[in-house]
Amino acid sequence: MTTSAAEAGKVRAGPPERAPVSFRTWRWLALGAQALVVLGLPFLRVGGESALRLDIPAGKLHAFGASFAVDEAFVVLAATLLLTALFLLVTVLFGRVWCGWSCPQTLLGELTSLVEPPPGHRRRPLRRAAGLALTALVSAVAAANLVWYFVAPPEFFGRLAAGTLGPGAGGGWAITAGLLFLDLAFVRQTFCATVCPYAKLQGVLLDRHSLVVAYDHRRDADCIDCLACVRVCPTGIDIREGLQLECIACAACVDACEPVMRRVKRAPNLIGYFHGGPGGRRRWLRPATLALGGLTALALALLTGAVAGRALVAVTVSADAAFSPRRAGDANVINAFDLVLENRSRAGVEVALDLDAGLPGAVVTLRPGSVSLAPGEIRRLRLVASVRGPAAAGTHRAELLTVVHAAGGPTQRRSDPLSLIVPEPP
Ligand code: SF4
Ligand code: SF4
Repeated sequence: MTTSAAEAGKVRAGPPERAPVSFRTWRWLALGAQALVVLGLPFLRVGGESALRLDIPAGKLHAFGASFAVDEAFVVLAATLLLTALFLLVTVLFGRVWCGWSCPQTLLGELTSLVEPPPGHRRRPLRRAAGLALTALVSAVAAANLVWYFVAPPEFFGRLAAGTLGPGAGGGWAITAGLLFLDLAFVRQTFCATVCPYAKLQGVLLDRHSLVVAYDHRRDADCIDCLACVRVCPTGIDIREGLQLECIACAACVDACEPVMRRVKRAPNLIGYFHGGPGGRRRWLRPATLALGGLTALALALLTGAVAGRALVAVTVSADAAFSPRRAGDANVINAFDLVLENRSRAGVEVALDLDAGLPGAVVTLRPGSVSLAPGEIRRLRLVASVRGPAAAGTHRAELLTVVHAAGGPTQRRSDPLSLIVPEPP
């Protein structure tokens, strides 16, 4: 691949044609839209809470209008499984589309690209200083954005103004911002080529139909060796040497080669997106995609089932240690229980309580018979069961029956086992 004088002449003299919209423009639009979502989610309020926030002190995950307690980790596990399966499926189908079009490292790297001299230019101190200042600002905002997923923005800014962010939020913000600054100022795309574990997975995940950025070796004669594609590559590789681990599929080389091909009046896509490689065939359905598609569907079903089947109210019931079961004078047997109710919904609920004593002919009175709970309220109370009727002395298995009515929402029923103790007659 050498530059001939004739070809170089064509580059200078070729009539300009209308340029297609560059991949860089599309990437900026995609990255900008995703940045808006990531920055905006903590500010979006759903049901009085951030759309997505992990409240560590309260042990709750707030996600799109629902609040999940620590013991509902299965929902998070199902969501993690779904995201992992989807991520792998997208990688097998579209190659490193994540790296070039979604990864925060790529987005922040582009935003702070002023720290690097433009291709073919020497480092300029003023530009470098401006780049470092911009990098510091971007690092501080990106790190604060991460903290907002733990401390809601109104609370964050209130505590920031009062100087009470503390070591958790304040320290986390400072450390994250510092690490980000070092990464963006000095590591940048070297991270992708050396440290990023996802890059290392590429060899295993990509197959001969995955979408990749590649150089069309069948058209070697069209390359005028201008090195435009090499100069713009953020990871410093030459795509003409084949698919490489360092390639983040940013398509900068495609954009760089496209005007060259137009000027020399050659067909476009000497470098381009290809399925598997130049001449490859697009094939969506193949063993890997079918397996990962099935896993994604299964994970989605699991997540849907986990969310739909979750209890609106958590119930914990146990014998009240401070109350000994006893017989009342009128032949009633009295038991007391320690009951904890937690309203996990964003609406007020009414909880109706009943006891199935499991004793034929027994008449049960329960106090209280119902409890109203405010959104998110946790209530601890003594539940007193009075059982009248034939019952042999001993321990009997009973069931606490709860019916939860959510305001304007569904009704849920559940039962929890407990032990009813009938003391010996005096
Ligand atoms: S080879 Fe092309 S697509 Fe790959 S990182 Fe370099 S410029 Fe981006
Ligand atoms: S930009 Fe195109 S023509 Fe220039 S060296 Fe790269 S592949 Fe060859």
